[in-house]
Amino acid sequence: MPEIKVLPEDVVSKIAAGEVIERPASVLKELIENSLDAGAAKIEIEIKKAGRGLIRVHDDGRGMDREDLRLALGRHATSKLNVFDDLYSLATFGFRGEALYSIFAVSRLKMSSFRAGAASGFAIEGEGGRVVAELPAPPVTGTTIEAADLFFNTPARAKFMKSDASERAQIIRTVEEAALANCGTAFRLVIDGSEILSVPALPGGMWENLKNRAAAVFGKSVYAGLARLEGKAEGMAVYGFVSRPDALGATRLNQYFFVNRRPVGSAILRQALYRGYGHMLTGRHPACALFLELDPGAFDANIHPQKRDVKFSGENEIFKTISNTVYEELLSKQTPAVQFAPPAAEGGNKFSAPDVPAYREAAAAPAPAAETGGLFSAPAQLPQAQEAFPAEDWRAHELAYLGQLAKSYLLFESAAGLLVVDQHAAQERVLFEKYLEEFSQGAIKVQPLLVPLEAELSRSQMETVLKWSGWLKTAGFEIDQRGPAVALLRAAPSLFYFTQPAFAEFIGYLSEVLGEPGKAAEDIKRNIIATMACKKSIKARDFVKPQEAARLMADLKKTKDSYHCPHGRPTLFYLSGTEIARRFQRSSAL
Ligand code: ADP
Ligand code: MG
Repeated sequence: MPEIKVLPEDVVSKIAAGEVIERPASVLKELIENSLDAGAAKIEIEIKKAGRGLIRVHDDGRGMDREDLRLALGRHATSKLNVFDDLYSLATFGFRGEALYSIFAVSRLKMSSFRAGAASGFAIEGEGGRVVAELPAPPVTGTTIEAADLFFNTPARAKFMKSDASERAQIIRTVEEAALANCGTAFRLVIDGSEILSVPALPGGMWENLKNRAAAVFGKSVYAGLARLEGKAEGMAVYGFVSRPDALGATRLNQYFFVNRRPVGSAILRQALYRGYGHMLTGRHPACALFLELDPGAFDANIHPQKRDVKFSGENEIFKTISNTVYEELLSKQTPAVQFAPPAAEGGNKFSAPDVPAYREAAAAPAPAAETGGLFSAPAQLPQAQEAFPAEDWRAHELAYLGQLAKSYLLFESAAGLLVVDQHAAQERVLFEKYLEEFSQGAIKVQPLLVPLEAELSRSQMETVLKWSGWLKTAGFEIDQRGPAVALLRAAPSLFYFTQPAFAEFIGYLSEVLGEPGKAAEDIKRNIIATMACKKSIKARDFVKPQEAARLMADLKKTKDSYHCPHGRPTLFYLSGTEIARRFQRSSAL
């Protein structure tokens, strides 16, 4: 008996399916690409149970006749490739004729299609790669494909699927990518009965269209921070949108890269983007919709089963072109440094805040490691303030309030000198500790809002917020959904006060930072929410009355760390009597 056996067809097909079809989103990606290749002007997508239940894609493209429909299910059946060389010059998304074959192998599949001019439509039904029925179908232009019960016959693979929430997020991302890269096609995505994304086919010019789609995909707040980008080099063009340096985000989730309008996850492109920001990044991440156009012969999309990764022949040129384009574009838009530091030549006396540009200030917020498992990390340590803190304990002396400076600083006289307090930083510290105290006592006082506050998010951000809504409730925040991507704040801890824009920033930030609820340690979650809530909730009131100033200092006195705000910035500093006297070249203290 020979030892080598030829594998039976149903095993072969499952192996092939394992390569192409990794999860529900990969099925969807293939189906969308087929619809685009068929010239669809409109693609409607319906998902049930995170894609495990049903993935249904309907298009109005050129359709298939009876014979093509049958052939389409076979292995290496494609209308897009005739000779091997075509592989390198293809303008279509599909080319290997494996997608339908693979999907068919691991689901219950229904396809119906109608091609203009045919006598009628035609449908095929089957499961696990076996055709069960062939029937006539109504003459509805285009093609409808339904893949139900994905992986019903490969239970081992089904087990590898992630949580519903993360499968859904991946599905949404797949549609977002297609929508960004194909402005001439309308997309509509419905998940479990609710509409997640709906964008019309756009007739406008390229930039007009792209702006439109970027606004729909990124949501208002991220979109508002984007700058337009355009550059060219020999044999390539790069264009799209990237974050301005003052509008960087906490994670990489808002990065979309395309090569010849194919969504790709390429390390080189990302590195080139980051290089373009250089020192402006400070641990934060840009959002982008970055398109690279190359000669089809200059890259190979065929190295990855799901066509996600690409190999470039002119890697260095590509890297240089992208990073230079980004750098030049951003330099022209860079925000000026904060006008804060006093004139430099002050005999080495540093009692000012360091001269930090605004986007660096923003980096003081906790900057989590973004993309994989550990979505939480300790708040980024700011470079510690330069000046030494006074040996003197400020709490040891009576304070007399002198007044407020620039609606930001409170000045107090004390026996040890002049005390300068950053009122926001101090308020943040006080709130932070009070809130965490209430939290650990399980006694957060919650205040329902008469008028709920709204925040517009991207679809994937909304998904994250929904995943977290249970935990957020225990943290005192009641958050609801209105429409596909508007979050509503119905109640909040009564310690906090949010304006509408502050809430939008708060929830936008959280939705980027929060990963899988189960993965983070409870105290880290609490810290993150406390830090952000404090930062956002107090900006509203700048003017402080004398009694309020006194009250704040009394509260600050009780905190565990009265010298730092929750982000690690100083809350106060002393100008000692000796120091003041020295500046006036007097020999003794006051
Ligand atoms: P590929 O896209 O690599 O050719 P697929 O297995 O995805 O392979 O599809 C096989 C063939 O079925 C395609 O080449 C195309 O001719 C046909 N086809 C698939 N989906 C559609 C559709 N939505 N509309 C028209 N034709 C389609
Ligand atoms: Mg295909």
